[in-house]
Amino acid sequence: MKWNRVVVKLGSTIIILFLVVLLPMGFVINQILTSFYQKNIQDNIKALSTRYAQALSDGASTAQTIKTIAEFSDVKFFIINNTGKIIANSGLITITEDASLPDKDIAPLFEGKSLSMDYEEPTTSNRYMVYGSPVMLENTVVGGVFVLSSIEGMHQSIQNVQRLLLLSGFGAFLLALGFTFVLSKKLSTPLIQMEQATRRIAKGDLGTRVRLKSNDEIGSLAQAINELALDLKNYRDTRNEFFSNISHELRTPITYVDGYAKVLKNKLYQNEAEKEHYLDLIASESNRLTLLIEDLFELSKMEEGKVSLEMEWIDLTEVMENAIHKCRLKVNEKGLQLDYHFDKQLPLIYGDGLRMEQVFTNLLENAIRYTNEGHIHAAINKENNKVSILIEDTGFGIPEEELSQIFNRFYRVEKSRSREYGGSGLGLAIVKKLIELQGGNIQVSSELNKGTRFEIEFIVPTSPGGGVESEVG
Ligand code: ADP
Repeated sequence: MKWNRVVVKLGSTIIILFLVVLLPMGFVINQILTSFYQKNIQDNIKALSTRYAQALSDGASTAQTIKTIAEFSDVKFFIINNTGKIIANSGLITITEDASLPDKDIAPLFEGKSLSMDYEEPTTSNRYMVYGSPVMLENTVVGGVFVLSSIEGMHQSIQNVQRLLLLSGFGAFLLALGFTFVLSKKLSTPLIQMEQATRRIAKGDLGTRVRLKSNDEIGSLAQAINELALDLKNYRDTRNEFFSNISHELRTPITYVDGYAKVLKNKLYQNEAEKEHYLDLIASESNRLTLLIEDLFELSKMEEGKVSLEMEWIDLTEVMENAIHKCRLKVNEKGLQLDYHFDKQLPLIYGDGLRMEQVFTNLLENAIRYTNEGHIHAAINKENNKVSILIEDTGFGIPEEELSQIFNRFYRVEKSRSREYGGSGLGLAIVKKLIELQGGNIQVSSELNKGTRFEIEFIVPTSPGGGVESEVG
């Protein structure tokens, strides 16, 4: 048996607690009972002794009458005269008439006081409680009446009660033991079940679930273990998918670079122009590879919370103008239109200027990349304490069922088109992460072949007067 098991610990605690309560309680009950019996006997012999002494004083009874009455009750008595000599005795074998009681024992009696004492009969070893009352005649003590009651009977009764107490205590102890066993089993079974489940989960069996239905702490622990297993499973699945995506994304440009390099090495080109073309392709694939690795590195840093932002109050119009300026060439190359509108008196936003520009450039580049004709519109609007940034285009659009996935890493709407249009497939994942890190949120809406609209929202803190904290005119 393992002594550190919960069952044993809990069981022994309950039993110890039980004994701690039961033993003193038994002791107290015993004490109460003993003193109750003693007081009862004491009161009884006191009443009898006083009554007999009174009867003798009044001359209403003689020693003989008292002897007769005593024979009908279960008490014994003896009467002494004014010298302490026993002149009448009922039922006490060893006390003979004419014997005397020691003066020191009966001295208080001759001062008119009652007295009580214990007495053990020498031959029988019977023990008695004794109560003596003085017999008075014209204010003088002329003797005394001693009433004796055996305490053997009392001991017998107390022993009976003690036996009963012990028996019921033992019964209660057995009951508590049984109860403890059942309770401990009930508590430890789910714990053992959960321990086995967590060990299986730790070994990689992530489909393991704890089947426990209770709405207490044990139930919620089981639920937490199940949620942990589910989270781990999701994490493992996405990690596997992530690695297979990465290897695919890395392998494609490497295959191209390798292929074109072999063409060049084996001089499989017709002329210098074709050779230049292959070299350009190698350069662009290497560039693509570099971008992919940089994006991957950046995203993993963000996901680990290792990216540090330079937060300051920034003017969004300035940031957007910079981003538009950078994209202008590409817009012109594709023959697209780009217009923009910024609300007046826009509040400053607390964010990282460079990261914000990275977000806007990314969204604008996507809009240019996935739009062949029409125009791109950028806007920054303010409504109450909300600032929203819009970037919309009249491009290919995104099917509705895929909208929820486009912020996922490596997600592309049309896989075949990805090579044609470039991009790592990580851009929107990075955009979303950056916006969230700066306290904003991003939404997308789109209609296939009509266009796409990205909307970023920031809540600006308002000053107590209702206006926004700081504004640019
Ligand atoms: P990529 O580097 O491939 O552009 P992103 O993460 O930036 O990766 O975008 C994910 C996918 O979302 C893109 O491959 C594209 O299919 C789709 N997408 C993004 N922006 C637009 C847009 N403005 N119009 C249409 N499709 C878009």
